[in-house]
Amino acid sequence: MTSKAENQARFGVPDNSMVFARGVRKSFGNVEVLKGIDLNVPTGSVACVIGPSGSGKSTFLRCINHLEEVSGGVLLVDGEFVGYDLRHGKLYEVNNKLLCQRRADIGMVFQSFNLFSHMTALENLIEAPMMVKGMSKAEAKEKAFALLERVGLSAKADAYPRQLSGGQQQRVAIARALAMNPKVLLFDEPTSALDPELVGEVLVVMRDLAESGMTMVVVTHEIGFAREVGDQLIFMDRGVVEERGEPREMIANPQSPRTREFLSHVL
Ligand code: ADP
Ligand code: MG
Repeated sequence: MTSKAENQARFGVPDNSMVFARGVRKSFGNVEVLKGIDLNVPTGSVACVIGPSGSGKSTFLRCINHLEEVSGGVLLVDGEFVGYDLRHGKLYEVNNKLLCQRRADIGMVFQSFNLFSHMTALENLIEAPMMVKGMSKAEAKEKAFALLERVGLSAKADAYPRQLSGGQQQRVAIARALAMNPKVLLFDEPTSALDPELVGEVLVVMRDLAESGMTMVVVTHEIGFAREVGDQLIFMDRGVVEERGEPREMIANPQSPRTREFLSHVL
C-alpha cells in the first residue's frame, strides 16, 4: 500500500485536496455514463454540481462513495484510493473491511432521505456510530442529541420518520451523516423531493455546515445556493464536465451554449 503523500505526488494531487478525480470513467455494460471526469475539491470547500437528468451526477457521487466501482481514472478521497486506472497497476486491495472504513469517512445525503423507518430520529443517529465505529450507546446518544440540536430538531429525538415533515426528515438525515464525523459530505439533490416551503430549512442547515468548514459536494438545482455557498460550480452534461467556474461568474456569464440553455431552465 502506498502512503497518502506518495499517492498525491504520483498523481499530482494539489495540497489540501479532499476529493480528487482525474479522467474518471464509469460504464454500465457497454454504456459509458462517465466519460472522464476531472474534479478537485479542496478541504473545507463546497463544490456544487448541476446538470440535466441522466448526465451522470448521481453515478459520480456514488463512485466517490464506493457505491459504484469506477471503470477507469484516478479517484482519491483524502489521498486514499477509491478508484484507479488498471494501467497504473494494482495499488491497493479493496476488501470489505477497508471499504467499510473508507465509506464511514464519506457521508451521503440522498434525495429520498433514506432514514430507517422503524427507528426514531435518535436511533437513526446512533446506529452507525455504534455498529461501525464501536461507540458506546451513551456516547453515541450524547453526540446524537448535540447533532439534533444543531439541525434544530432536539425536540424530535423520539419521533419516527413518518411523524416528521420531509424537511425535518432530511435534517435528521444530515445529522445522521454527521454522526460518523465524515471527512466529506456528499449531497444528491437533497431538496428535490421537498415541498417548496420546506426547501429553505434544509438549505439553512447546509449553509451552516459549509460555514463551519465542512467539505461538501452538492448536486443541486438550487442555483441560489450554488451561487451563495458554492466555491466552484460544475456543469455536467452527458457524462462530461461541460463547464466549470466560480459560481457567480459562471451563472452570470456561462461560456458554453449548453450551460446557458440549462441555466435558462433552472433560474
Ligand atoms: P443523473 O444523476 O445526472 O440524473 P445518473 O448518474 O443517475 O444521472 O445516470 C446517468 C446514466 O446512467 C443514466 O442514463 C442512467 O440510466 C444510467 N445508470 C445509472 N445507474 C445505472 C445502473 N446501475 N445500471 C445501468 N445504468 C445506470
Ligand atoms: Mg441523480
